[in-house]
Amino acid sequence: MPNDKETRACVSDLNKLRAQFSLLPEQDFGGGCSIKGSVQLFSAPVPITAVKAVRCPLARTLTEWVREDAQPLAIKRLGSRIVRIDSMGGYSCRRVVGNAASANKMSQHATGNAVDIGAFILADGRRVSVKQGWSSTDEDERKFLRDVRAAACARFSTVLSPDYNAAHHDHLHFDMGGKSFCR
Ligand SMILES: [Zn+2]
Repeated sequence: MPNDKETRACVSDLNKLRAQFSLLPEQDFGGGCSIKGSVQLFSAPVPITAVKAVRCPLARTLTEWVREDAQPLAIKRLGSRIVRIDSMGGYSCRRVVGNAASANKMSQHATGNAVDIGAFILADGRRVSVKQGWSSTDEDERKFLRDVRAAACARFSTVLSPDYNAAHHDHLHFDMGGKSFCR
């Protein structure tokens, strides 16, 4: 078990939410990059790929978003359940991209405090990706992606989509940083 109280409580919450994950050892890579109180997330409880390291509270909020928002919205808008979510990663030691004003700042990804979502795979075999679906001719896909973004904005601090800038044309970025921003 982790030795800090916040992470212990979070791990217990993740278990209650039936997420599948493994707790990662703490690592400080220097230069503002670290993994602390983090997990590798396998299932939220929908299987999710490529979330190798995210801070536990982010994993918890992501799991709540999948269970309470994304899954019901997929059934409502698309008439099928989500069976897998393809992420484009959590932890990554890098600076903010695509925004000159914050180009020297470390990304929330550098502390595992952010995750990028690329696509939703449905039980009927469809793959609804942010890249193809955001401007799709399929109105239901467009609405679904905007609905899941709106729901994420109510849970995460910062949510960025293709509406924000070209760097986000193929994914939804969610993070737990301080700034409340939704686009
Ligand atoms: Zn991101």
